[in-house]
Amino acid sequence: MLKNRSAIVTGSTSGIGLGIARAYAQAGANVMLNGFGPAGDIEALRAALERETGVKVRYSAADMSRPEQIRALAEQALAEFGQVDIVVNNAGIQHVAPVEEFDDAKWDAVLAINLSSAFHLVKALVPGMKARRFGRIVNVASAHGLTASPFKSAYVAAKHGLIGLSKTVAVELAEHGITSNTICPGYVKTPLVEKQIADQAQAHGISPERVVREVMLSHQARKEFIQVDELAALAVFLASDAAASMTGTAIAMDGGWTLH
Ligand code: NAD
Repeated sequence: MLKNRSAIVTGSTSGIGLGIARAYAQAGANVMLNGFGPAGDIEALRAALERETGVKVRYSAADMSRPEQIRALAEQALAEFGQVDIVVNNAGIQHVAPVEEFDDAKWDAVLAINLSSAFHLVKALVPGMKARRFGRIVNVASAHGLTASPFKSAYVAAKHGLIGLSKTVAVELAEHGITSNTICPGYVKTPLVEKQIADQAQAHGISPERVVREVMLSHQARKEFIQVDELAALAVFLASDAAASMTGTAIAMDGGWTLH
């Protein structure tokens, strides 16, 4: 489905990004991995993915809070693959605190990694996409791009902003064969959420089981975590030729959360 395409997936050493990177490689696209983790583990992951799929899999340790490193990531991918057709803006962090106690540096980091990184990467890649008249920008926001929860001011602001960026880019680039769409997942049990379960249990003074049942899944009508594979299948579709007419959308895959 994605043969002869090349993709960058930010934040793909773990969780949702890794699932999307794997699905892209399985669909035939070369993939640039990015994210943090022990060097040996990442190299083992990269080599295994390349061996299993036969596509080129490369890795960049670019810190998505640093614009110059984001530009270097784009240049590395262009040098390795000759072109970048698909970019998935997925890297993200969370910080939970009441607004009046929210740490300034944490606010800046959440905005930089969850929102500004997408701007810098898209800016670097759009000239090449325009020249080839093909591009697929896939943003991973959240149900928190569409609705709010307490104590997540920076995250909710960044994810709403990411949808706004995506819509603007979509209208600017629609006539150049470039689409931009945003996926809005509900809760997915990745390392990011495992950490939140522990943090919220402490903040609310309740057990981890109660956090899952009463805080996290209380709004998700289906009462199940979203699966990484489900999100990856949607990301493959959005990157495919079949999705040429879909642009500027914010697609909820949230088990019915944002229906309320
Ligand atoms: P995760 O913590 O499992 O993975 C995050 C990835 O981002 C990792 O590869 C990490 O190394 C990377 N990363 C973090 N900071 C980075 C930085 N400064 N530079 C480069 N890479 C960096 O998280 P996840 O749950 O897979 O989340 C992925 C995306 O999905 C995030 O944008 C998150 O907000 C969003 N999301 C997650 C959920 C969920 O329930 N897990 C729900 C909705 C949206």
